[in-house]
Amino acid sequence: MRHKTKFFQAICALSAVCLTILVSSPLVLLAFADSTLSTPVADITSDQEIPIATNHYTMTDNAVDAYFMNENPENPPPAAKPVYDLFTIEERQEKGLELATPKVSPYYGQRVIYLTFDDGPEPENTPAVLDILKKNGIKATFFVVGTQVEKYPEVLRRIYQDGHAIGNHSYNHVYRELYQSTNAYFSQLRHTDEIIKNVIGVRPRISRAPGGSAGSFTKEYWETLKKLGYVEVGWNVSSGDASKAKANGIINNIIAQMDNKNLWSHATLLMHDGRGHAETVKALPDIIKFFKDRQFEFRVVNFETPSPW
Ligand SMILES: [Zn+2]
Repeated sequence: MRHKTKFFQAICALSAVCLTILVSSPLVLLAFADSTLSTPVADITSDQEIPIATNHYTMTDNAVDAYFMNENPENPPPAAKPVYDLFTIEERQEKGLELATPKVSPYYGQRVIYLTFDDGPEPENTPAVLDILKKNGIKATFFVVGTQVEKYPEVLRRIYQDGHAIGNHSYNHVYRELYQSTNAYFSQLRHTDEIIKNVIGVRPRISRAPGGSAGSFTKEYWETLKKLGYVEVGWNVSSGDASKAKANGIINNIIAQMDNKNLWSHATLLMHDGRGHAETVKALPDIIKFFKDRQFEFRVVNFETPSPW
């Protein structure tokens, strides 16, 4: 009888030890897992939702100096950097994220110049422009065309990696197609977003209507633009480089317009780096010198950029 009791007690004790080990082992594993996870163990074991990150912008771990929108941003980024979106419009819709662009106070400085280049990327002019910008230690904004990105993705990648801003300038730049309907226009923007995202992993939030929005955009275009969260970017200084002007003519066009000091707080200069714009490349060092000599601040277009008009 005594033996039986001892045996029973031993079995009980052994079972208790086994049970303790069984019960505690997942906790031990979780405790180790916790050292590699930022989420507390309690969040993994409970049914609670993991809290959404409060920082709505992400800095990537690569060398690109830009802001990346991840969620619905309540606080705009504090510095004058390019802004990209981690998600396409479709992905935002699927995740239930805000499409509209956050309200940001426009930045007006004493002497501010936004250099913008349209219609690239192109295999000769764009790299030449990038070399000049790099040599001068300044950043610019490139409004790219989808068909060109498909042809020269590596040039787009360089624009991005050099820290410039990238904007959407439609898929094929064909006015009669783009301005047929809002649907046609925004289908081209969305298609180009996808193409750009396939190359650099993010998409632009700024766009520029081919030929400019004036005379092409109806009220419906502006409403759709706002709803989808694109920021349309015009210009208030034209280099005139679309009209076969020579380098000297381009420089003189710009100098003449910069007489108007009302533009100095947010001068947005239209140039082209697409095919046939070698004269722009030729003029660029002197254009930059003109602004540098007058202590202008070179900025990239982002949500802080004021409307040019
Ligand atoms: Zn264009």
